[in-house]
Amino acid sequence: MKEIDDDAVVLRTYKSGEADRIAVLWTRDHGKLRVLAKGSRKTTSRLGGTLEPLAYVHVDLVKSRGDLFIARHVQHRERLSVLRASYPRINAGYAVVEVADAIPSENVADEGIFDLLTRVLLTLDNEQFDPTLVPTSFYFKLLALDGSEPVLDSCVQCGREGPLVAFDAQVGGTLCANCRSGRSLSPEALTLMRRIVGGDLAHVLRELSAPGEGEVMAIAHDAIEQHFAKRLKVGRSSAPLLPSALER
Ligand SMILES: [Zn+2]
Repeated sequence: MKEIDDDAVVLRTYKSGEADRIAVLWTRDHGKLRVLAKGSRKTTSRLGGTLEPLAYVHVDLVKSRGDLFIARHVQHRERLSVLRASYPRINAGYAVVEVADAIPSENVADEGIFDLLTRVLLTLDNEQFDPTLVPTSFYFKLLALDGSEPVLDSCVQCGREGPLVAFDAQVGGTLCANCRSGRSLSPEALTLMRRIVGGDLAHVLRELSAPGEGEVMAIAHDAIEQHFAKRLKVGRSSAPLLPSALER
């Protein structure tokens, strides 16, 4: 009987039978797994309290039928009490795990995504950081992990360095006035985007309402949607093309 001992982030849960729940986990060493938590909808269940969306847990699983595992023991790696006490933080977390859940897990760098997910949760659990741009930064990092980081330092069509006035997710980056397509891009939004992907994220997340924030969020949404539409055509996942959290 195959057993698994691993760390995991809970992406989502759904009901199964009378009192059970199935949790979809992204594990450190085994990628995405579906796990049956027997009796977890009973009020006395200890599994129910730990296998909740956005939980960061250590799991002890045993293989069941098909690709399903059964949870034997689950405990919190981190309580994430700041995250759990704030709706904006919870909503930002949901926007992230819904996208992670839509990733076809058979052809991605699993551990890289696991590390990204745990960093997102710990960031959302830190009062110093504003949650608004956390999903946006996650989308950009996910694209980079997948080799699809958008071009932001020159026109993606002609190579000119500037001025860059538009962003088009279909062509994967910024554009000059001659080549422009997609969304128009303000200098503030370009600066903010470069800071997010260029290693200044910790400072960005300490600022409230960074200039260009709304534009950058819309661009990240376009970029991840475009990426998923391409990927899911070749992947085997039946996940929705556009996770609902992105549509808010
Ligand atoms: Zn150009």
